[in-house]
Amino acid sequence: MRTFIVLLFLSGCGNYPGPLEAPTYEQKPRQAEAVALVWGVYPMVQASPPPIEWREDRCGDKTKAGVRYRGECYSGLYFPGGRAMIAWRGSYTVSAFAHELLHANQWGRGWEDPNHLSTEWGLVQEANELLVMMGIE
Ligand SMILES: [Zn+2]
Repeated sequence: MRTFIVLLFLSGCGNYPGPLEAPTYEQKPRQAEAVALVWGVYPMVQASPPPIEWREDRCGDKTKAGVRYRGECYSGLYFPGGRAMIAWRGSYTVSAFAHELLHANQWGRGWEDPNHLSTEWGLVQEANELLVMMGIE
């Protein structure tokens, strides 16, 4: 958790991270709060939530932003142990925000479910409902 707080602090202070610091990315409104809420819905892990690189790449669908990566288009991608790249589609709950954070949470618990076979994916809906309830959509 300490790493997460330091990262947020740095990102709030400008874009001049030192050579040993993780890169910082643009933050969406109330992002720290949104991350904490979603992370709190998921099982406890030692790992911190990942940094998020928001993308608004143009892909095949002109109505939706995507993440273009190595010639493919995604709503979001999580790089195990690293950042999440998530297409910003105007709000957290419409974006794959809670979804990618669950991938990160699972990785933090030492497993991965890239094909979304676990019933645990129902937690994404719960997380999104919590965001709506807290007025962070
Ligand atoms: Zn997924």
